[in-house]
Amino acid sequence: MGFYVDGILGIDFGGTSLKSCLATGSQLKLYDAIPTPKDMAALRKSLMEVSKLANDDLHTSVAGVGIGLPGLVGQDGEALFLPHLKDFSSLNFVQLVEDIVGAPARLDNDANCAGVAELREIGACASGYEVVIGIGTGLGAAIFGPGGIARGFSGFSGEVGHICIERNGRSCECGRRGCWEQYCSGGSIRSELDSAGWVDINIEEVFREMDVNPDFKSLVEEFCFHLGLGIANLVAILDLERVVLTGGLARSLEAVLPKVRRYYLELVEGAGARRETEIRVGSLFEFAGAIGATYLWNLVDG
Ligand SMILES: [Zn+2]
Repeated sequence: MGFYVDGILGIDFGGTSLKSCLATGSQLKLYDAIPTPKDMAALRKSLMEVSKLANDDLHTSVAGVGIGLPGLVGQDGEALFLPHLKDFSSLNFVQLVEDIVGAPARLDNDANCAGVAELREIGACASGYEVVIGIGTGLGAAIFGPGGIARGFSGFSGEVGHICIERNGRSCECGRRGCWEQYCSGGSIRSELDSAGWVDINIEEVFREMDVNPDFKSLVEEFCFHLGLGIANLVAILDLERVVLTGGLARSLEAVLPKVRRYYLELVEGAGARRETEIRVGSLFEFAGAIGATYLWNLVDG
């Protein structure tokens, strides 16, 4: 367990909802999710709302803000490429948040935030070679080795949701086609439900009722195949000891892990020759990113 520096606000900009939390002393307070702002006016308003919640709870101003963004983030606080939030690509989030909240801010990729938070919660695996996959509206990952998180040449490692798995496949918000997240995310399930006319069905219901509804069953089966396929590809590249699933959709995945494992074992190269890669669900779910964003300030061993 770590302890928290007083008064850090964590904000995670998901593709659909914005999650936030406040870290004070040894406590975490989670705030209700709100719709992700899609334009500048809504963004300013959302930031004012969440900072007011935190300031009211603290009876003073927050000491710092951690921000998680879904996409490529720069070293100077700017968003560089956000497939799900295109209007904010190239916006300097750190500057904007500092102006609105009145406290210093730090920024990271949302999946990196979520990965760090999950491993703080459940502990790193023995070898250190693991990937935390965040599945919400899109899909992203944090890649870990014995030295901790792998950042890559430009700081962009882990954008696995945009690995192409289907030539001329479904079009993706990143501007390309056939990306993994178009077959394996809350967004992909949502668009299949919408195009089948099931606009009022939520994704949790699809997983809950898959045994009684053949249409839901085939949707879940496809999802599990593509999750197993992606994990098999990551294991082929990284030889992982463990894969941890987090994000909003992870709540529904515990029940289908045997299916995912079965597909993974069918699809991974040399399954019989490998030590078994553990595939498990994390424990922070949709709040992993916001909680991890507070760690941008206060990751201190205690
Ligand atoms: Zn893509």
